[in-house]
Amino acid sequence: MDIVTIGAKTSCTRCGECCTKGSPTLHFADSQLLRDGTLNYKDLFTIREGELVYNNMDDEFIAIDCELIKIREVKGSRKCIYYNEDGVSACAIYDRRPVQCRAYECWDTDKFMSTFTDEKLTRTELLKGQTALIDIVNAHSDKCSYTKLAELFTAIGEGNDLTGDVFEILAYDTYMRPLLVEQSGVPEQYLDLLLGRPLIDTVIMFGYKVEKDEQGNYLLVPLQAEPEESK
Ligand code: SF4
Ligand code: SF4
Repeated sequence: MDIVTIGAKTSCTRCGECCTKGSPTLHFADSQLLRDGTLNYKDLFTIREGELVYNNMDDEFIAIDCELIKIREVKGSRKCIYYNEDGVSACAIYDRRPVQCRAYECWDTDKFMSTFTDEKLTRTELLKGQTALIDIVNAHSDKCSYTKLAELFTAIGEGNDLTGDVFEILAYDTYMRPLLVEQSGVPEQYLDLLLGRPLIDTVIMFGYKVEKDEQGNYLLVPLQAEPEESK
């Protein structure tokens, strides 16, 4: 959730402006919202440890040092999916909104900043008691480590041919997803929460995209710098 400071306000008018700047990260206390049905697992996704996230304070990408569970955003935007643009009240779950949203007061951000170190919700906590599923999630995190991927892409950028190692990780992630649905009965909509977003999509954060050639083989293609306008 990005910080929006609106000087004239002294209380929340439910304008929804903050809800269009990024969805909240869930705190430990928010697990109650899943238990009582306010939030649904399909509406969440995980940013895994080591994943690059945009730090708008310093205008740079940083690797996060712990996993974060967030409410999904509307595709192609930073809008929280619970933000109801047409409604008069903006947030569809305002009276039961997560801790981070409650702490956010656009006219005084001190309270919000003070919650930064609060314990965040984790997949292990959400899956408490489901040992087999936790083992699968942990095995996937080890095999598809973002730290490892960052090292591989750095080495590739230095001229080392390690694309095979990257493809091995991408293939594991791509293979695990339908398998988990098929063999564990997990709804497909829960995969971005359980395994994080597909690597084939997030690999873009390392400056590459995945394409298929005419034979159906995957290719790792560096993102081109924007071509200069011809003079
Ligand atoms: S906290 Fe968010 S919804 Fe409330 S007034 Fe400020 S910007 Fe609007
Ligand atoms: S949960 Fe509600 S208050 Fe929080 S960002 Fe989403 S729409 Fe806004």
